Formats: sequence, C-alpha cells, structure tokens
Amino acid sequence: MSKTLFSLPEPLVIPVQGEEAGYPVGRIFCVGRNYAAHAAEMGVEVDREAPFYFTKSSVNAVLSGASSPYPPGTENFHYEMELALAIGSPVFRANPEEARAAIYGYGCALDMTRRDLQIRERKKQRPWDLGKDLEQGTVFAPLTKAADWGEVADQRIWLTLDDEIQQDATLAELIWSTEEIICHLSGYYHLRPGDLILTGTPAGVGPAVAGQKMTGTITGLAPVSLSLTAAE
Ligand code: MN
Repeated sequence: MSKTLFSLPEPLVIPVQGEEAGYPVGRIFCVGRNYAAHAAEMGVEVDREAPFYFTKSSVNAVLSGASSPYPPGTENFHYEMELALAIGSPVFRANPEEARAAIYGYGCALDMTRRDLQIRERKKQRPWDLGKDLEQGTVFAPLTKAADWGEVADQRIWLTLDDEIQQDATLAELIWSTEEIICHLSGYYHLRPGDLILTGTPAGVGPAVAGQKMTGTITGLAPVSLSLTAAE
C-alpha cells in the first residue's frame, strides 16, 4: 500500500565532515553509567558484568546549533556530553574485529535529561522514558569518519556551560569500549547503518536553564552545541 493518511517527518540527517551525503538517523541507543566518576556522582554502583542501555526516539533528535525551549515537566534539566558512534554496516553477534569494522564514524552528542524525572522513576523501578526521551532531547554534531579520526584512546571530552567548564575527562575513562558495546548490543539487535550509540557521559553533569548555551567537544571532532530558550 503506498497511500498514507498523513506523512511522517523525514529522518534527521547528520552532516559528515568531508562528505556531500549525510548520515540519516535511524535508532538511538544510549549506554548508562559508562564512566565510574559519573556513576559515583549519581550515587549508583557501576555494573561491570555487562553494559545496559536505554533508547531515545530518532524523531526527538536535533542538530548541533539548535535552540530549544526549556522542556515541560522538569525543574532539573541536565546536559550529558557523550561520544556517539555511528554504525556503517550491518552487524549481528559481532566479534571485536567485526565491531570495529562496523563503525562508520564518531561524533559529539548531548544526551539531554530531565534528571528529576529520571531519578524519581529510577527510585520507583520504572522505565526512564519521561526522563530521557524528550523532544529535542538528543543533539548531534557533524560526524567524522572513523578513518579520518582514528581509534578511541585518551582524547579529551569536555563540556562548557556559558564558557565555564563543567565536564572534563578523557575517553580512556570509558568502562565499556566502543568495540565491547557493539559486541554486546549486537547480541540483542541486528545493528545496521543509521544506528547511533551514545557511549555514556563523564562526571560533571548539571542543570542548564533558559538563556544558557552548552558546547561539548572531543579532541579532533566537531563540537556540539545547544542553546536553551524560554519554556513554551
Ligand atoms: Mn547519557
């Protein structure tokens, strides 16, 4: 059937450095608690048995440089600066070599979070959707192809809020490596081009309010920024 009653939004397309064609956003997977210092500031233990995930809707993602209204339903809206990796080829039950080969590129991303709702739901042992999957709640910077950036090592990852540094760490602090995450996650999903994985945030998360601007950077990658405007 080709006729539809209405049309849905086209997928968001992330620019790729040095490419004319962009990377359309399919699914967004996010790793929780992947930096020990961040888990500690959240008052929780790191689970070293296996990574865990939540997902964010691709229709709720925006590109770096966006201005978003302060979201409804929260009084504690937090930034989380993260390394995103973009899958470039289908992969299922990957071994480490296959995992590495499946990475198309990397980018800076913000995992915006209604922290008050996330913590409230966590305490009640409920899902995090209201806390995490908010409109305009994921922000993507342009991607850099893996071959143009190199391996994840000890690159600096940091975030400024109105020019003051809030988060400052290195990718050497990642508990689960990008390969380990792909190996594990591909045991549950047929990962494919369009899938993006946010690899968790370092310590230093905190609130942002209307009128403030966040900028997150990882050495060698294009920075990601978001400005908050007054609530609607
Ligand atoms: Mn996060």
